Amino acid sequence: MKQDLKRIAFHTLGCKLNYAETSTIARDFKQKNYEIVTFSDPADVYVLNTCTVTGNAERKCRKLIRQVRKRAPGAYVAVVGCYAELRAEEIAAIPGVDLVLGSADKFDLISRLAEHPKNGAPVILTSSGQDHLDYHASWSVGTRTRSFLKIQDGCDYNCSYCTIPMARGQSRNGSIAEVVAAAQVIIGQGSNEIVLTGVNIGDFGKSTGESLVDLLRSLESVEGLNRLRLSSIEPNLLTDEILELMTSSPKFCPHFHLPLQSGSDRILRLMKRRYPRDLYARRVNKIRRLLPDAFIAADVIVGFPGETDEDFHETVDFIKGLEISALHVFTYSERPGTSALALTGAVSTAERERRSRKLHELSVLKKQAFYDRAVGQTRTVLFESGSHGLLTGFTDNYIQVQVPGRGDLCNTLAEVKLTGRVEDILKGEMVQ
Ligand code: SF4
Repeated sequence: MKQDLKRIAFHTLGCKLNYAETSTIARDFKQKNYEIVTFSDPADVYVLNTCTVTGNAERKCRKLIRQVRKRAPGAYVAVVGCYAELRAEEIAAIPGVDLVLGSADKFDLISRLAEHPKNGAPVILTSSGQDHLDYHASWSVGTRTRSFLKIQDGCDYNCSYCTIPMARGQSRNGSIAEVVAAAQVIIGQGSNEIVLTGVNIGDFGKSTGESLVDLLRSLESVEGLNRLRLSSIEPNLLTDEILELMTSSPKFCPHFHLPLQSGSDRILRLMKRRYPRDLYARRVNKIRRLLPDAFIAADVIVGFPGETDEDFHETVDFIKGLEISALHVFTYSERPGTSALALTGAVSTAERERRSRKLHELSVLKKQAFYDRAVGQTRTVLFESGSHGLLTGFTDNYIQVQVPGRGDLCNTLAEVKLTGRVEDILKGEMVQ
């Protein structure tokens, strides 16, 4: 029975990499004359690109499936990505799900959908733990001011709390030539900023015998590229060479997202992280020396099994002593199949929440101090949105700025004098 499916809606949970991949899959449908509608619109097909990093991300997915089933009972529902790869049966058991595609098959959604019409019996296609998955280039363009460009996938690390290697397989990457070609396409479509994304981007080059610093050199010389931003990079993989290169060109945004996870070496060992906290502090200090105005954000996990009050205080004191700009605070989430599940010393939910609140408060102070230090500076801002005569955007060093201006200046770059902070945004005026 031929299905007349012409309107399709996508919803992405999780990371920038997922957004780049959803955008790429959606382009396949656009080329086949599907109308891409928003997830709240009526559609013939609803696609959820999922995340499995926390239990909460999975709960969100199940809730969205139930919502779609309620408002569009006849629609086709496809659930793809990391959560689908690891717990396909669980998803397929939810009434209304028609197709469950794992990390590899999600890129063939358009043909899988044609092969498996809606018939009440959900179809599951996953890589079921295969390690050697193919690499699929992906990027987002036109949907947001900043474009996410995938450069690497999978991970060879085995952090004890993490399911990503199980969901996405071994580390692999596109070649420098492929990534540069994708960047040229993105620039050709009017994007002013590219954010390089992946799972463990510091490992870029492993499957092609190349390196991240060589990729950055090649991208830096791409004509028309105004801004290049790195997404999260492991501190032990942020080399001096990369830092020195990033100091050499204004195209590199002085913005670093460096996962720390804990300020206690004992906990870092239990997490199987690949650096002692001193290495982290040396990286931060090196960045500060080379790029004094750089935005440095640190991921921290609270409530990891075995984390005592002393460990937590060590983390708080360690972070207080670091010249960083903000924290991304995550509450430890038990993940099936991870080695951390075997660890003793579980931290109560109430205590996890208390520690999370404490670090959020510290992050607010760090960020306000970083923003206050920028008042009086003139920086380049990429405007992303505009309303009520105000334009909002981000500086190269990731400060959110608001200036008086017309909405049609979105996706343009301008010099802005930063004049003062109002809560967590800086006010500014355009430099004529
Ligand atoms: S580096 Fe660790 S936390 Fe990051 S994806 Fe790999 S295993 Fe997970």
